[in-house]
Amino acid sequence: MNILTVTDLTKTYGRGNAAINALDGVSFTVPKGQFVAIVGASGSGKSTLLHLLGGVDRPTSGTVTIDGQEIFDMNESNLAIFRRRNMGIVYQFYNLIPTLTASENIMLPFLLDGRKPSDATLDELLQTTGLTNRKDHLPSQLSGGQQQRVSIARALVNKPAVILADEPTGNLDSKAGGLIVELLLLANKRYGQTIVLITHDEKIALQADRIITLSDGKILSDEELFVRTVHTRSEAEEAEVGFTPTVAAGFGAEPHSNNEVVA
Ligand code: ADP
Ligand code: MG
Repeated sequence: MNILTVTDLTKTYGRGNAAINALDGVSFTVPKGQFVAIVGASGSGKSTLLHLLGGVDRPTSGTVTIDGQEIFDMNESNLAIFRRRNMGIVYQFYNLIPTLTASENIMLPFLLDGRKPSDATLDELLQTTGLTNRKDHLPSQLSGGQQQRVSIARALVNKPAVILADEPTGNLDSKAGGLIVELLLLANKRYGQTIVLITHDEKIALQADRIITLSDGKILSDEELFVRTVHTRSEAEEAEVGFTPTVAAGFGAEPHSNNEVVA
């Protein structure tokens, strides 16, 4: 089943001589549970595509269907609700609310709906992301890597149909960035979460199921990777990272069916 269908998507900024075709007729589908990396040079249209998939911006033409719903058929307020309930979006600069604690930021998609996640859900997310003893800290009291882990937990709290991440490791050192990728892989494996990840780090892209390359607003190539690269931590890295997101029960129980996992 395709969780995401993109049909002939175009986005033009500006008019006349100044018009820029940031996206130019992009079409693809993503089956449920796939981990897709989007790569391409700066200015190739990656962020524009992600904003449209997330319904953050509207296209010039074309459609985006998520879990059977054509998202641009909805008005702004219905789209905002749909986005909150069905999509998790992770940005390079975290986009946390500075006046809310880590756990309040994580619960935000629920709080905006006048609901609260169960304590078990919140505890599991805090544990998985290594934030249990940081849950009452404000974003300003957290490192960049910790803030990004908060934003990943926030993206996961609703168990959304799709997680969209725009260069989530772009502002982090390789250790903190590696942990973010591990969490996304964990979400993909443990929760069967569909993920669309923009990155310009080839090592990260090679951990996905599929790599779509954009060039000048068009799809240049679209390749499935049948052997997923798995990064295994050394003992030294393990000690430095301080916690292991993979210890919780269930992780790795269902390796991706299309892939032969290699160490
Ligand atoms: P990428 O994320 O791959 O670097 P973007 O999607 O940000 O690329 O940008 C694609 C093209 O669209 C670029 O030429 C960029 O300058 C242009 N662009 C992006 N956002 C806007 C905007 N709000 N107004 C005008 N041009 C934009
Ligand atoms: Mg970008």
